Amino acid sequence: MREQRRTRVAIVGGGPAGLTAAKALAGTEDVLVIEREAEAGGIPRHSNHWGYGVRDLRTVTTGPAYARRLAEGADEAGAELMTSAMVTGWDGRTLEVTSPNGLVSVEADAVVLATGARERPRTARRIPGDRPAGVYTTGELQNHVHVYGHSVGTRAVVVGSELVSWSAVMTLRHAGARTVLMTSARSEADTYAAVGLAGRVAFGVPVATRTTVERVIGKGRVTGVEVLDHATGRSRMVACDSVVFTADWIPDHELAVKLGLNLQPGSLAPLVDTALRTQAPGVFAAGNLLHPVDTADNAALDGRRVAASVRRWLSGARNLADGVPVHAAEPLTWIAPGLVRPGDPAPVGGRLVAWTSEYVRFPTVVAVQDGREIGRVRTPWPAAPGRIFRIPFSLLAGLDPSGSAVEVRLAS
Ligand SMILES: Cc1cc2nc3c(=O)[nH]c(=O)nc-3n(C[C@H](O)[C@H](O)[C@H](O)COP(=O)(O)OP(=O)(O)OC[C@H]3O[C@@H](n4cnc5c(N)ncnc54)[C@H](O)[C@@H]3O)c2cc1C
Repeated sequence: MREQRRTRVAIVGGGPAGLTAAKALAGTEDVLVIEREAEAGGIPRHSNHWGYGVRDLRTVTTGPAYARRLAEGADEAGAELMTSAMVTGWDGRTLEVTSPNGLVSVEADAVVLATGARERPRTARRIPGDRPAGVYTTGELQNHVHVYGHSVGTRAVVVGSELVSWSAVMTLRHAGARTVLMTSARSEADTYAAVGLAGRVAFGVPVATRTTVERVIGKGRVTGVEVLDHATGRSRMVACDSVVFTADWIPDHELAVKLGLNLQPGSLAPLVDTALRTQAPGVFAAGNLLHPVDTADNAALDGRRVAASVRRWLSGARNLADGVPVHAAEPLTWIAPGLVRPGDPAPVGGRLVAWTSEYVRFPTVVAVQDGREIGRVRTPWPAAPGRIFRIPFSLLAGLDPSGSAVEVRLAS
């Protein structure tokens, strides 16, 4: 027999975005957070290094301490955290939840999707070869090491060179494995130069640019990978007993797809406006589900924004002005939020967030609507692949609310 529940607000996903929204709403609303893992906290729970909490908590702490603090904050504020419970279906209001206690139907007046993003595994990257043990994404690696205390080998190859790739190197080191090679398909490593330099010096990791892993080798356990140097066209074997596929993010958007929400073409994230509303009334989204992948504090700040929007919805605010879609043009692959409505707040942090496929040291960003340039800003920070590129919202100050879609691109 299926249990029936009712709540004012259901939040799907107990990571930084969902927990922060829960804490902000719980004082005045009945809030239920549904989290598929045994403990709330999201990715930071098993990301056991420093670097969390700067913008939201005004501190720097480790992932597990940050996760605990957010979960305790939501709990103390009065939100109910339903863990080991996965939302497997819904029709926009009633969520179907599968938990060890059986099936539960949860009806809510407002739903916040805060399901985060994940890295594409080897299969999705179509890397051929054998099917041995010892192949992970960073998330899987950190789960094995920090949650289950498993051994992950002694010699690893890390595919990717973003911030998260260095997080994988640290986890491997913690587990007693040396990273013998990091590969990047680009001509430069993707992380901040200072991080890359510190990583190379501190961990002695060689980074091979313009290099890809072409094959995984090993019967039973990984024994090596074949890598291709695109500069020389030469392939070589690298002996290792672990391979970690890092970055290459995809939003955990299955529930958004089930409901038929519009998706952003470049990121496959649900399309939202600056108040973080999706196109379905009473359905909101926040965190890395919208921008794969930003830091946890920015996901948490989304949580605060979405809480304010949910509160407005619950108090009866319904009439929305039509929005103007905002699209990214190459080399920008996506931009969020993708809809701007007159009267809505500026995006979180006063910036649009975007992703680029090309490195530009001093970018000038241009917005074009109906064939006319409506804004232009220069940023002192680069547009760099592998990390979020932030664009001041003042770029869209000249937007015509009755005009057609705006295209945002980098000036050549
Ligand atoms: C290896 C690594 C290192 C990182 N290092 C840093 C760092 O140093 N500093 C920093 O600020 N950020 C760091 N980040 C980024 C940070 O972890 C994310 O920005 C943050 O976790 C995003 O929060 P979120 O709430 O959007 O998503 P998540 O943390 O991914 O949380 C989403 C939650 O939703 C749950 N969920 C998904 N689907 C369902 C469902 N159907 N039903 C129920 N529950 C569901 C998941 O179990 C998960 O708990 C790192 C990320 C990684 C992968």
